[in-house]
Amino acid sequence: MSLLEDFLSADEESQVIEAIRHAENRTSGEIRVHLEKTWDGDVYEHALEIFYALKMDNTKQQNGVLIYVAVEKRQFVILGDKGINDLVDDDFWNSTRDHIVEHFKMGAYAKGLIQGIKEAGEALSNFFPWEHGDTDELDNSISRG
Ligand code: CA
Ligand code: CA
Repeated sequence: MSLLEDFLSADEESQVIEAIRHAENRTSGEIRVHLEKTWDGDVYEHALEIFYALKMDNTKQQNGVLIYVAVEKRQFVILGDKGINDLVDDDFWNSTRDHIVEHFKMGAYAKGLIQGIKEAGEALSNFFPWEHGDTDELDNSISRG
């Protein structure tokens, strides 16, 4: 079994994608999860690079949210685009991060990701409710680097 499969089984991956789909049913915002085996440098800087590489800055309302995970060290970053970051409280992402950490510490990675997706989705739906004609601007599948 590869490291990434060990982190998230195929079944759990489906659950995570389903959580994204569910969250995006209530908001125009877009949520993505990106997994990478490992990263040695600054994980926040790297998550930003991934954010741009996935063109997550290209949403109409600047309301994309990325959960980036460097799997080997169980490090992760949750990043919102400008549109959403300007509207949530300063400590919003910190508290979401803490909730994910609680699950990660117990080895419940899928649960942690789903919790993060849920909280990001709630914040997004408060500020960017789903509108008729909304498009899926960013694929819901989990990308890997
Ligand atoms: Ca959308
Ligand atoms: Ca999407």
